[in-house]
Amino acid sequence: MKFILSWLWNIKLHNKILLGLLLGAFFGAWLNVSKYELIFQFKVDGKEQTVKIEKWDRIDVIDIQNRNVLATFGKDDQLKLLNYFQSLSKPEKTKLVFIVTKITANDPAKESTQEFQDINKIEKVKTIPLYIKPIGTLFIRLLTFIAIPLVLASLIVGASSLGNIRTVGKIGAKMMLFYFCLIAIAITIGLTLANTIRPGDRLSTEAREKLLVEFSPNIQAKIAESVDLNVINTIVNIVPTNPIAAMANAEMLQIVFFALMVGITLTMIRKEKSEPVIRFFDGFSDMMIRMVEIIMKLAPIGVFALISATVSEFGFDILQTLFWYALTLIIGLTIHQFIVLGLTVKIFAGMNPIKFFRGIRDVMLISFTSSSSAATLPVNMECCEVNLGVPKKITSFVLPLGATINMDGTSMYQAVAAVFIAQVYGVELHLSEQLIILLTALLASIGTAPVPGVGIIMLIIVLRSVNIPEEGIALILGVDRFLDMCRTVVNTSGDAAVATCIAKSEGVLNNKIVHTA
Ligand code: ASP
Repeated sequence: MKFILSWLWNIKLHNKILLGLLLGAFFGAWLNVSKYELIFQFKVDGKEQTVKIEKWDRIDVIDIQNRNVLATFGKDDQLKLLNYFQSLSKPEKTKLVFIVTKITANDPAKESTQEFQDINKIEKVKTIPLYIKPIGTLFIRLLTFIAIPLVLASLIVGASSLGNIRTVGKIGAKMMLFYFCLIAIAITIGLTLANTIRPGDRLSTEAREKLLVEFSPNIQAKIAESVDLNVINTIVNIVPTNPIAAMANAEMLQIVFFALMVGITLTMIRKEKSEPVIRFFDGFSDMMIRMVEIIMKLAPIGVFALISATVSEFGFDILQTLFWYALTLIIGLTIHQFIVLGLTVKIFAGMNPIKFFRGIRDVMLISFTSSSSAATLPVNMECCEVNLGVPKKITSFVLPLGATINMDGTSMYQAVAAVFIAQVYGVELHLSEQLIILLTALLASIGTAPVPGVGIIMLIIVLRSVNIPEEGIALILGVDRFLDMCRTVVNTSGDAAVATCIAKSEGVLNNKIVHTA
């Protein structure tokens, strides 16, 4: 026991995180949330009561007054029932009776029933992983709170050391070129795979109906959240009217703009005035980086808690139903991650792809578990600086912008999802429409906030652009959590690749770094 503990203590951090991930996945799969159990919370004589219902054969919902059956749910309809219950208003709930019927196995004619009235809550039975999820959430919140002050401080220092607007403009132009090319390549890979594998044609009509019934109630809020793309507005909005508000609202592009202005203007005032300011922000950003290192010590536990909760909640059968769709996207993401990004760092930074991927191991693991480019940003900055030798003045400029703009994984996902939904609905997409998808997915991924689950909201814009029914997102909602984890890895790795290439092109990449802790 002592030996195991000391071995665990001494293994490297990224291996500990990986271990946390694998153990979390097993733990979550072992203690998964049952599809055949529900908790009913109801009132009897004004007193709250809770009952666990398991393995029902049928649940009928009837009107309390005229005993008319309003809805019936079978033994596999847990999600359908939960959605139905959520859609009811409070007064409606009081007018219903839920009758749970179980058929005795050895005598099908014999039915046992239980009646429930005045139900105020129906939920799935929580498992241990769901109880420990807050530990994971805590870890992600710790990383997220670092992102904004870190970006601000290090970019002010970075921009002041870049010296002038010309250098910033040159690096900015190169960065945008890289980002746009990588996104366009990602979308093209996605479109090619989706048109070749044709996952939408492989979805049976029954599966389609089931998905639409189960997930339709959840999509209205998402549709309501989506706003139309407006390029001019997006550009105008880059300039904040109030930088403090920009920070408070985590408006990354606005913060970057403000920090750049501050950094550049610092080079235009007298040295004795600018130096203390730069030194302050320099010390501040070093302190934040140190904080990332401390927080990362919690990563194995945080990752374990998050993954076990996700796996426990996630129904694997949905992955079976949407197998071809998920597979198409995963093949595309793998090609982009390891071939396209690998070749990019090889060609443009002269870096061995193995060294690159070893250097960003923590970035990949944290993006996978957090599904958030923003939460991963501090880790990405640290890994690029410490493991890949990209100087702070490049990481602080390229990575925050990349986290917001460069979403190779999300853009590929939007293209694959759009074609998949079109195929399911039998909408023919011609080359011109596929080009529109390419363009809107490119813009939509730029507009996607670097936090979990936003990609699917921006997908609605892509669907609208080529008249694919937007309700179609109900088809893919069930696997979105998992695919979000995968696409976020590609998003953040793409940023790291571009930062490395730009550092090389500026002649500031420290290729001698061998430390890959
Ligand atoms: N979760 C993704 C990110 O943070 C965005 C998305 O595709 O939903 O990069």
